[in-house]
Amino acid sequence: MTNRQEISNPSDEPCVFCRIVKGEIPSMKVYEDEYAIAFLDINPVNPGHTLIVPKNHYEQLNDMPIEMAEHMMKVAWKIVLAIKKEIDPLGFNIISNNGKEAGQLIPHFHMHVIPRFHEDKTRFAFIWGTKKIEEEQMKKIQEGIKEKLKETV
Ligand code: 5GP
Ligand code: ZN
Repeated sequence: MTNRQEISNPSDEPCVFCRIVKGEIPSMKVYEDEYAIAFLDINPVNPGHTLIVPKNHYEQLNDMPIEMAEHMMKVAWKIVLAIKKEIDPLGFNIISNNGKEAGQLIPHFHMHVIPRFHEDKTRFAFIWGTKKIEEEQMKKIQEGIKEKLKETV
């Protein structure tokens, strides 16, 4: 696992989540380990809406080592079990917006764990549209991704 000190915020802008990690901004923390923290979202979709954040500043999933990505999902698993016991929602959305085009407002990787209830009106925390893609293009994309996966660790 990469040492927490190795990677710093590449921009000069103070990163809100780096500041939360350092304790410079208060947060309603529910979990902490060597590599990650989890705290309640300041603007929750539902009660229990939690954010999981690596202590290192990685902007997107592809910026972090695979071990850190695995760790993020392990923490999500723990948070889901705890929220299930405490709040007992019917379901969860586990969402990570990567890139501002995808709705990422804070450019420090994070995963949303959002408890969902029967009375929730929207199917997702946000609505997305769908596109019709021709079969030929779908096959080209499928083959392209399969090839690139062979080159990935
Ligand atoms: P994004 O759109 O980047 O996936 O979501 C960022 C989330 O961070 C939003 O849901 C927003 O409410 C939350 N957030 C932004 N600033 C703060 C903060 O200072 N404290 C906490 N607890 N959450 C924050
Ligand atoms: Zn940061």
